[in-house]
Amino acid sequence: MAKHRLHSDVERVLITEARIHRRVRQLSREIGKCYGNDEVTLITVLNGSMVFLGELLQRLPMPTRLDSIVAHSYGTHTTSSGRVRIRRGWQLPLKGRHVLLVDDILDTGRTLKLIRDRILRERPASLRVCVLLDKPTRREVDLQADFIGFQIPDKFVVGYGLDFAERYRNLPYIAVLKPQIYRQRSP
Ligand code: 5GP
Ligand code: MG
Repeated sequence: MAKHRLHSDVERVLITEARIHRRVRQLSREIGKCYGNDEVTLITVLNGSMVFLGELLQRLPMPTRLDSIVAHSYGTHTTSSGRVRIRRGWQLPLKGRHVLLVDDILDTGRTLKLIRDRILRERPASLRVCVLLDKPTRREVDLQADFIGFQIPDKFVVGYGLDFAERYRNLPYIAVLKPQIYRQRSP
């Protein structure tokens, strides 16, 4: 089995821990301003968004309910397969509720568009999208997030919950790995 390391597999840190924490605090204030005291049902897309959601959730000032879904489009590759599957859907009733969909990264937009369209069928009172990262140059469908942490260039990033083949989620910053790591892809 190949030997995996953590920090030493990183080529470049794109967004430091301190910048992420600052921005998440600002985002939670922006979201709070938007909803006032209305209760919001958060639906988070696992696994990539769990670290972001964990930090954001603690700072949101309004009443919330939390639900999650499991969706897949990437497998172990660094480019989108174009096929999106929802492995497990939400459990809470969404009709008449203010729904905020939280994901790690908006890339082609296919994943969030599929999820958004499914949620809209439930007739929520409102539906907004919050992402930590946005790669606007990669968009293939018409979808914009209402709350965005950072816009980043078209690079495959890891850390702060984002993985490469299920590894590197525990890096506390957003980073690009060394090219040889993306090439080796061991299980
Ligand atoms: P989309 O459907 O917008 O193309 O892809 C969204 C999903 O692809 C994200 O939720 C994320 O799981 C994955 N993804 C897209 N870009 C990246 C990236 O740069 N790094 C990682 N780790 N995952 C990504
Ligand atoms: Mg994801």
